[in-house]
Amino acid sequence: MRRISIFGATGSIGLQTLDLMRRQGGPAAFHTVALTAGRNVAELAALAREFRAEIAVTADETCLPALRAALAGSGIEAAAGAGALLEAADRPADWIMSAIVGAAGLAPGFRALRHGGTLALANKESLVTAGPLLLAEAARHGARILPVDSEHSAIFQALVGEDITALERIILTASGGALRDWPLERLATATVSEALAHPNWSMGQRITIDSASMFNKALEVIETREYFGVEPGQIEVIVHPESLIHSMVAFRDGAIMAHLGAPDMRHAIGYALNWPQRAELPVARLDFTTLGSLTFRPACETRYPALRLAREVMATRGLSGAAFNAAKEIALDHFIGGSLGFADMAGVVEATLAVLSGQGGLGNAAKALDDVLAMDVGARIEAARQATAFATRRAG
Ligand code: NDP
Repeated sequence: MRRISIFGATGSIGLQTLDLMRRQGGPAAFHTVALTAGRNVAELAALAREFRAEIAVTADETCLPALRAALAGSGIEAAAGAGALLEAADRPADWIMSAIVGAAGLAPGFRALRHGGTLALANKESLVTAGPLLLAEAARHGARILPVDSEHSAIFQALVGEDITALERIILTASGGALRDWPLERLATATVSEALAHPNWSMGQRITIDSASMFNKALEVIETREYFGVEPGQIEVIVHPESLIHSMVAFRDGAIMAHLGAPDMRHAIGYALNWPQRAELPVARLDFTTLGSLTFRPACETRYPALRLAREVMATRGLSGAAFNAAKEIALDHFIGGSLGFADMAGVVEATLAVLSGQGGLGNAAKALDDVLAMDVGARIEAARQATAFATRRAG
């Protein structure tokens, strides 16, 4: 029986993974090793009981008594804190879903590579912050990283059986998010609830707002560069409001392979869960006679400064991805908290990168995960300073 662990089990990706496991036989078909969550211990305990997990881990130590109480009498172990997440990753598993949101997902996924199994990578921050280290660690242990981001799963599938040297460019599609049809001058006034009204995809709160600001696509551009090893100039972003083409790969003979499907993450998750086979999946089938038209528009870097910043990060490389992501996470916290305007988020990230670049070391290659984590901490401090400065200017 395949041993499975899910980091971020209570989130959008985690729950959809468990939904597929349920449909594919549940605990009778999979041995669940570890399930983890942030603070939602009630749901974590219910899932751990249903899937008969060995251990349930909450990232927040103050939630441990509640988790223990919810698991009482089940025989399932309960643990809490960042160290417990790593210990859970130390438990041998054949297939690990990395679906914690943010840089917090990096260390557990990195650790789980030691088993030489498959890491299904939804946590895009891992490749953005520590791409070369993560890939080297996977190679060292003979582990396989399968992309779960729908765009990267699409590219992966388009490349099956192809010679990577024949690849000319990768075209990442972007829905444009909730605010894609807003006039540019109105964007600065967007509220959290307006940014959360995604027209096509149902996702977690943070990635949905990142989708409206295009920070999500900026992370994906960097993720593409790291995972597929292509040059930044080979990556193009195009807005495709229908979200039916999940990405495209163009080859040197002029052929373009596009991956189409309903906007449902269970396709990419299910592909990674069943790879190299394809299993029956509960996703809507496209009917081309009723689809209407597929439309495209350029992804303008004036409207979406996050995309310009991603290009700067790819030019600098080294630790700049870690700084970019950390600054983005802090700016997003402040936007969600109400102290920062929607358009200020890019300003905070840009100002943070400028300060850190002036201090030197942004382009240095990480030698170990600790280098990445140290940059993450430093960038969060600087970004918080910048966010306060932006908020003060806004209030004045
Ligand atoms: P959610 O916010 O829905 O879920 C995040 C999960 O991580 C939850 O289980 C949450 O627990 C847990 N968590 C939150 N903070 C921490 C922390 N500090 N330490 C440990 N665990 C934590 O996120 P999504 O499922 O939307 O996204 C997960 C990842 O997948 C992200 O990196 C995202 O970019 C990526 N992704 C998501 C897609 C989607 O469709 N949702 C598509 C492609 C990629 P709790 O429930 O207790 O808060």
